[in-house]
Amino acid sequence: MTDDRSPLTDAVEALTLVTYTHIVQKDDAGTYLKTHSVAHRPLLVQLESAITSAIGNGGGGGSATGNVLNGDALYRAFLIRTELGSWCQLAGVKVSRDLITDLNAWWHVFRQTGNDDGFYIGQLRGWVRTIENLLDPPKRVPQDIPCPVCKAVKWVNEEGATSPNPVVLEYKYEDPIGTAKVTCKACGTEWSDMESLNELKDELAEKESLEKLQNEVANV
Ligand SMILES: [Zn+2]
Repeated sequence: MTDDRSPLTDAVEALTLVTYTHIVQKDDAGTYLKTHSVAHRPLLVQLESAITSAIGNGGGGGSATGNVLNGDALYRAFLIRTELGSWCQLAGVKVSRDLITDLNAWWHVFRQTGNDDGFYIGQLRGWVRTIENLLDPPKRVPQDIPCPVCKAVKWVNEEGATSPNPVVLEYKYEDPIGTAKVTCKACGTEWSDMESLNELKDELAEKESLEKLQNEVANV
């Protein structure tokens, strides 16, 4: 439906749809090898996930008290939820508390009104930037597996507190494959190149969370 391709639709979909990054891989001589496509969950889903992500709080603060809430993500999500809630109210849309459901429901009603959408496009684009900034620091995904080397299932952080999931996958949002590494916080073992990451996968082939790891690192 070509009339759906409006800037408003684009702005809504930038928040609600799965996105893909295409990463070109070259060898040392700069010769093209292949292109990876990496899937990213919708930004609004990532925002919600970021609220409860135990590590990787961009603003710091939370870890000192063992508090697993990411205050910055929580605050941003609160602002978005509040504003979206008022849009829904204006449009007569029932609020579900699920951001994607609500945004889609609002958009469905709003686009039929013919009202000026300039303000909303600006706000939605702002949300995209806000969430991307929040997610920009290296992404850390604790893996729910024992360390394959030291077998640890817990580790002691800088403040002396014991935390679960010592094995952590980290990557940069803009280049998940090039920057992916897995570290054990308990023994310090690091898997950082594709070869050792693949070995790690093989070693833990029976663990279902490795599928998650695989999906997080790449859709190769
Ligand atoms: Zn270990």
